[in-house]
Amino acid sequence: MRVHFLILLCLGALMAFVVWQSQEVILAYYLLSAFWLMPLFYFWKSKTYPMLAFATIGVLCLHGYFFKFNPSLRIVALGIFQIFLFLGFSYYWWELKRFHDRAVASKEHIRKSLESFQAKYQTRLGSLRHLEIQVSSLMNLFEIARDFSECMDFKTLAEFLLKKLRSELVFDKMAIYLLPRSGPSQGTALARIHSMLQEGVQEEERALTETEQKHFTAMALSKAMLRDEDKWYFPILESGEIIAVFAVHGIKEEDLARVEVLSAYLVLLIKKIKLYETVRELAIVDELTQVFVRHHFLVRLEEELRRSIRFKLPMTVLMLDIDHFKRYNDDFGHLVGDATLKEVANLLKNSLRRVDLVGRYGGEEFIVAMPETRIANAAEVAERIRSSIARHDFQVYNVRTKVTVSQGIMVFDGEDTAATAGLDPKEIVAELIRKADESMYRAKEEGRNRVCLHKDAKKP
Ligand code: GH3
Ligand code: MG
Ligand code: MG
Repeated sequence: MRVHFLILLCLGALMAFVVWQSQEVILAYYLLSAFWLMPLFYFWKSKTYPMLAFATIGVLCLHGYFFKFNPSLRIVALGIFQIFLFLGFSYYWWELKRFHDRAVASKEHIRKSLESFQAKYQTRLGSLRHLEIQVSSLMNLFEIARDFSECMDFKTLAEFLLKKLRSELVFDKMAIYLLPRSGPSQGTALARIHSMLQEGVQEEERALTETEQKHFTAMALSKAMLRDEDKWYFPILESGEIIAVFAVHGIKEEDLARVEVLSAYLVLLIKKIKLYETVRELAIVDELTQVFVRHHFLVRLEEELRRSIRFKLPMTVLMLDIDHFKRYNDDFGHLVGDATLKEVANLLKNSLRRVDLVGRYGGEEFIVAMPETRIANAAEVAERIRSSIARHDFQVYNVRTKVTVSQGIMVFDGEDTAATAGLDPKEIVAELIRKADESMYRAKEEGRNRVCLHKDAKKP
């Protein structure tokens, strides 16, 4: 304000000086005309309106003063010209200011757009990084999934899954439920469960809980995955039937997509392992009697014999043949014959220990290997088998029948190293079976429903 006042004072002083010094009034007028517009413009521009009013009044008074001295049209025209000049200046400045404001506004706008673009860029970069992590984690899962194909049984698969996924996923528990053939709604049937916990793998065979039965039955109907709070269940279906379930407990919501990818792969793998198990079982277990098929029995017998040779242990081989089975079939039919064969196999298995090997040697001929069993014990076991079958009432399709069996026994003496020296275990096995068979035929000749020991087995 003080500066403005000073400017006004200077202007006044300049006017007074010029007027005082001027010989010619018009000359003073011309001189002042060049100056007075400047402070007026300055006051207007700096919005010091009182000063502007004051200066304007001053300038008008001066005009009046000059007009009084020289009342000519030229003074009036010059005055009007100056007014226009002032207005022109003002307009020019106003336009300049408007342009400046617009430039500032557009600069601000650009700055804001730049900021928002930067923010968007950062967000995109963030999601890109997130995506990158997801992709790399998915790639890891694929890598792991590819290695799964090496697993040929559920135990190995569970151990492998736990080892690989511990670092990949946060979870409380994962489990593979292998459901009974009868389906999940049969409460009494046992399910095989391979659980993967942080502390390790657990395998158990148990009936499904009520909740599990409810969930699995629902999945069998919907054929879709099921969620129960933080527990996720993925069904594994075969020909529309639910055969297994992959369960994950306590995973994070964001990991679900990855678990889904994993489960899709596991579904195929579990099916493959199940199929593989079935094929393996079919290859080693006789479908009708559920004892070993001849080939597998011989492989296992040879293994057992090698062990007996190494540890100098005895082993008994027993041959069993059903008496007059041809006639039995003729009398009751093959279906009854089959069911009887199955029952005989069950009675035979029930009379033996878990370590004993049982095989179906021929049509209605069974073979048994009893490791670490001497002749006396073997004879007792054979007698037990004979009497349990002879006493049993076979009840098949409303037909009540009886059967008897004839058995032949041969014992391998592990301590008699001289007898086995230089012999191939295969040859020893063949010899043992031949001798057991020989005794069995002797039992037939002697009247059937009896046990015969081979003469070589009777040696002390
Ligand atoms: P033996 O007392 O001398 O043994 O008289 P057998 O009639 O039993 O004579 P053999 O052992 O030679 O006869 C075997 C019969 O067993 C032939 C067949 O009719 C019957 N058989 C063999 N395999 C099966 C089978 O899988 N199912 C049924 N139902 N019968 C079978
Ligand atoms: Mg027979
Ligand atoms: Mg026979």
